[in-house]
Amino acid sequence: MPAQCLDGAAVARAIRAEVAREVADLKATTGRAPRLAAVLVGDDPASQVYVRNKVAACAEVGIRSDAVRLEATIGQDRLLPRIRLLNDDPDIDAILVQLPLPRGLDRMAVLLGLDPGKDVDGLHPLNAGRLLMKLDAPVPCTPAGIIDLLERSRLSVAGLHAVVVGRSEIVGRPISILLTQRDATVTVCHSKTPDLASFTARADLLIAAIGRPAFLRGEHIKPGATVIDVGVNRLDDAGAAASIFGADSPRVRQVRERGCTLVGDVHPVEAAERAAFLTPVPGGVGPLTIACLLRNTLRAARLRRRPAGR
Ligand code: NAP
Repeated sequence: MPAQCLDGAAVARAIRAEVAREVADLKATTGRAPRLAAVLVGDDPASQVYVRNKVAACAEVGIRSDAVRLEATIGQDRLLPRIRLLNDDPDIDAILVQLPLPRGLDRMAVLLGLDPGKDVDGLHPLNAGRLLMKLDAPVPCTPAGIIDLLERSRLSVAGLHAVVVGRSEIVGRPISILLTQRDATVTVCHSKTPDLASFTARADLLIAAIGRPAFLRGEHIKPGATVIDVGVNRLDDAGAAASIFGADSPRVRQVRERGCTLVGDVHPVEAAERAAFLTPVPGGVGPLTIACLLRNTLRAARLRRRPAGR
């Protein structure tokens, strides 16, 4: 039996509909819709697409948003004051800084420069620490989306052995915390893990956040596992696409006609043969990330408009 597809796009639509309703309520009671500032430094094409998509998604649910486009050459000494202006703007509820930043900019200094109350990705160390301590905090959008997908698909993680491949601050680390808090037993693997398959092949729940096309193969997957593929990798070579998807796949035609196709960190064909549940790429984790960004923006706006003392 091929793996059942975990439809991230459908769950994302449900979250967006909930956010749209709550945004309308907040606007009705406070007179202002939430507002997000999306900071894009430099002209990385993938980052430009991500910011464009996020701004468009905001409009669909009634959130106001601004793309703040800054030159790659801006330098640390001018970037931090720009962030401070956004922190101090009372009409801005939430700020996201699109990562990665161009070389020469200090990512951690920028994250530390964010007002933690406006930090919509939950990457400020204060928010990361609150998450670790199980206090109310903005949960980083991709891990939050994965948890929503599992819960709304009625896939409980309690008692499961979860293996997370990747330990980034934005995906691997926070998802490992969230799964532990939900009573999974979690193993975190990374580029220095020897014999990766010996860990991943024992996973009831496998989360791949590596950034390497189709890297996890059939041998890495326990039969019957749930596999969440976070990776988004661009394939622009028809031969490479054919070797993964098969020569007759529409994905190969897509590369020839449109110049590229997307593949995750998990080999989609081999995983479909072994897993019980699998997220597709695209249409799996990506739409959930954007939906959770909208929800985090709404959360920040609500907290900022709470009457004093509550
Ligand atoms: P990242 O910051 O580059 O981290 C990659 C992680 O993978 C690191 O921890 C690295 O280990 C580990 N790794 C690299 N090669 C490995 C190997 N051969 N074996 C085992 N582990 C290995 O990446 P990220 O930001 O977490 O993103 C990961 C992927 O998810 C990317 O494809 C990204 O585009 C995608 N992504 C998608 C979404 C979405 O919404 N769908 C959101 C965020 C990211 P070390 O720590 O040892 O270097």
